[in-house]
Amino acid sequence: MIALALHGGAGAKAGRDYSVEIANMREIAQFARDSLLNGAKAFDIVTEVVRQLEDSGLYVAGKGASPNAAGFYELDASLMNGADRACGAVTALQGFANPVLVARAVMEKTPHVMLAGEGAGLFAHEQGFEPIADEAEYFTRAGRFESNHPPGTLAHGTVGCVCLDSYGHLAAATSTAGVFGKLPGRVGDTPIIGAGTWADGQTAVSCTGQGEYFIRVNASAQLAFRHAGGQALGEAADATLQQIVNMGGEGGLIALNAKGEVIVPFRSQGMKRAWFSGDSEIVSEAF
Ligand code: ASP
Repeated sequence: MIALALHGGAGAKAGRDYSVEIANMREIAQFARDSLLNGAKAFDIVTEVVRQLEDSGLYVAGKGASPNAAGFYELDASLMNGADRACGAVTALQGFANPVLVARAVMEKTPHVMLAGEGAGLFAHEQGFEPIADEAEYFTRAGRFESNHPPGTLAHGTVGCVCLDSYGHLAAATSTAGVFGKLPGRVGDTPIIGAGTWADGQTAVSCTGQGEYFIRVNASAQLAFRHAGGQALGEAADATLQQIVNMGGEGGLIALNAKGEVIVPFRSQGMKRAWFSGDSEIVSEAF
């Protein structure tokens, strides 16, 4: 059994045309399905899917990132391998195209889980990641097109992926530029294991939305522990998202379990997403 879900953020706005993003997500999901059928591992797939989403420039992550209030691009990413709960993260990383790859290197090359800011950048340099030569030219600022929220609200965008491979292993990855106009140094849920990203032996979760609220309910770990305790996947997600809504927050998530059940719930105007389970058709949509 293989299954996968990916998202391009719960910042989708009603009435806007997301046909380019929908086609892009479908293409990436098809690539992932072909790779999984050829024996690829879940952890490699979530890394590669998020890297492709970052590189597309279509979402508020990687190339599509928006700057913070001071005009700098500070990017966050994390990923987690379900089988052994190995994980890595970077936050407020500046100057590199693929935070998800740096997060993976943190996991594989250091005894740490997360590196922040300048230290994350130094580490990326040491690991041989190519710095972005000209940020003004590189970033497409996909967020520009979604930042029509009133000032003071947490408008946002993110990418993520959860996967079950043919060996029965799960993994999750998430990457973002955070909320629009964030204060320098602001950290959202995306790089925080247990808030924006989680994978264990039974459940994998990647969240998107107003990270301040996802942190407050420890969203991805809460969902997984509810499911481990016997709650159905959909019920566990609804209970978690309801807490966020009750506090005045919005967002969504993608999750799947070791049986290949996939859910893509959201409590926002829309959420760009694509998924399949087993032999099912790939679904790709925004609302
Ligand atoms: N959760 C992300 C953050 O708060 C933003 C998003 O998912 O759109 O940084």
